[in-house]
Amino acid sequence: MAQILVWADHDGAVLKDATRNAVTAAAQLGAVHVLVAGSGVAGVAQAAAMISGVAKVLVADDAAYAHGLAENVAPLILGLMADHDAFVAPATTTGKNIAPRVAALLDVAQISEILSVEGPKRFTRPIYAGNAIATVESSDAKLVITVRGTAFAKAGDAGSAQIETIGTTGDRGQSSFIGAEVATSERPELTSARVVVSGGRALKDAPTFEQVLFPLADRLGAAVGASRAAVDAGYAPNDCQVGQTGKIVAPEVYIAVGISGAIQHLAGMKDSKIIVAINKDEEAPIFQIADIALVADLFEAVPALTASL
Ligand SMILES: Cc1cc2nc3c(=O)[nH]c(=O)nc-3n(C[C@H](O)[C@H](O)[C@H](O)COP(=O)(O)OP(=O)(O)OC[C@H]3O[C@@H](n4cnc5c(N)ncnc54)[C@H](O)[C@@H]3O)c2cc1C
Repeated sequence: MAQILVWADHDGAVLKDATRNAVTAAAQLGAVHVLVAGSGVAGVAQAAAMISGVAKVLVADDAAYAHGLAENVAPLILGLMADHDAFVAPATTTGKNIAPRVAALLDVAQISEILSVEGPKRFTRPIYAGNAIATVESSDAKLVITVRGTAFAKAGDAGSAQIETIGTTGDRGQSSFIGAEVATSERPELTSARVVVSGGRALKDAPTFEQVLFPLADRLGAAVGASRAAVDAGYAPNDCQVGQTGKIVAPEVYIAVGISGAIQHLAGMKDSKIIVAINKDEEAPIFQIADIALVADLFEAVPALTASL
């Protein structure tokens, strides 16, 4: 049976949900071993061991891995690939940073953002910003794959995998961690939220964006997203951006407020189960994919909707 090495995405304390989607994809390829690399990551390893379908958790605990620097982590993975047939990472910021370096070191072609597993080496993946789906087959001996989380269910918590501590490869001295400014929020994480309320350029400025959208998001227990125009104009932080160059989301409900529906935005949210669009222009492209379309001025419609909940 093929052995698959899955990258556990975590922040040092909490295992990110995207790991669970990657495990579901990897389980279709073979026996799943999850690599937890970091510093002081015993808790993360325990959480990974409980994921259904995981056979083994490999723990590499070293200060060099504390911030997931690809330059330090990739040599570790390269060593482990002697015993594995595929490296699978969630298509998160960290996964997308590490996987190409691993692919280069293995001298194989990376298969990015798979949507389905069609065979041992055959996958589907989006091209042209998700407007076409390509079926690709690798001829490489080892596979390096990133997984689009929205295309695979999250593996549950019924597992009890063994945890094995492995040797580390240390600091390669090629890069160093300077700092991170991480936006903290009480709201659910954008990529795993059941409901997302997103705002666009029409929200005017940062205070208006907050004033109009946050009460609705709070009422619904929703994550807040934004179009790139809203992010570029400084209404919302970068990690709120939904779309081709932002995050890919597929919540149960996506509410697009004052967003035109440019193809690059749709690439990030069109797989949402129910799409609600509020826009004053009835010709706005977002209405072509909306399940519920409200042609209205958002400054009237959103407060009225919030008040009615
Ligand atoms: C390479 C590339 C990558 C990109 N990646 C992304 C990406 O990841 N994500 C992304 O979002 N964009 C991305 N873009 C940008 C994209 O092309 C659009 O420019 C952007 O999505 C537009 O944002 P918007 O809908 O907020 O603004 P606009 O297109 O300006 O739309 C604003 C909408 O608000 C409506 N409106 C105005 N006032 C009101 C009101 N009072 N009430 C109700 N409705 C109102 C208008 O009718 C309009 O439809 C990318 C572009 C490129 C070239």
